[in-house]
Amino acid sequence: QASRLFHPEDTIIKTPHSVIGGDHFTLMAGPCSVESAEHVMKMAKVAKDAGATVLRGGAFKPRTSPYSFQGLGKEGLVDLRKAADHFGLDVITEVMDDEHVPLVEQFTDIFQIGARNMQNFSLLKAVGKTQTPVMLKRGMSATVDDVLNATEYIAAGGNHQIMIAERGIRTFDNKYTRNTFDAGVIPVLQKLTHYPVIADPSHAAGHTEFVTPLALAGTAAGASGLIVEIHDDPAHALSDGPQALQPDQFKTMVKKVNAVRKAL
Ligand code: PEP
Ligand code: MN
Repeated sequence: QASRLFHPEDTIIKTPHSVIGGDHFTLMAGPCSVESAEHVMKMAKVAKDAGATVLRGGAFKPRTSPYSFQGLGKEGLVDLRKAADHFGLDVITEVMDDEHVPLVEQFTDIFQIGARNMQNFSLLKAVGKTQTPVMLKRGMSATVDDVLNATEYIAAGGNHQIMIAERGIRTFDNKYTRNTFDAGVIPVLQKLTHYPVIADPSHAAGHTEFVTPLALAGTAAGASGLIVEIHDDPAHALSDGPQALQPDQFKTMVKKVNAVRKAL
């Protein structure tokens, strides 16, 4: 169902405040984690002011260590939804577990499936049974065919509102970046599938100073949008502080991204 051969037209996904895919460009931004009601409200304003239409924020966090901050859970979903509604933004948030799908669905406009869960087939089947759009993040070691097969698990259940996010992959040298941003996979996926492709420069870069160059690369490669982590006090962020853009850095990034889009 993912193939262009059987479905030549781009899939266009409509959420209350965004149109995703085709010639549209969608900016998604927010903190890695929802940290508090006040903080996510502040970050929602930053996202909105810079032109984002989707607010991101994790309430259920897939942390590498079980001793790291795991997210605020339901309380985080409530805070995220409130902040998005206050500024007229859509919500994207990660669902980590098939049992949480009904709960998360009450609060989100787009399900995020994290890189670590790209092949969690029971989770893919569970979101596939809903009619809520899904952003599937490419696993750090997933081939293009692995990603496309993962989309089939969602589509097979009847949910065709799928987008794919390139967030960087593991390569032989991830000493200076967190992952290797695979810009080339963007046009490859666009050739093979009609689903929108979103670039996540934050998790590829791993360091604030590399986020904007990768955002520009993803934009130039033709991505249908960006998902970017922002924070006003990265040193005290509860997760992924080292890769967060501060509000003014984010504004500058958006200006440059828009310049690249104009040049295309
Ligand atoms: C995230 O978006 O904060 C996240 C955990 O991303 P990924 O699944 O790509 O690592
Ligand atoms: Mn993160």
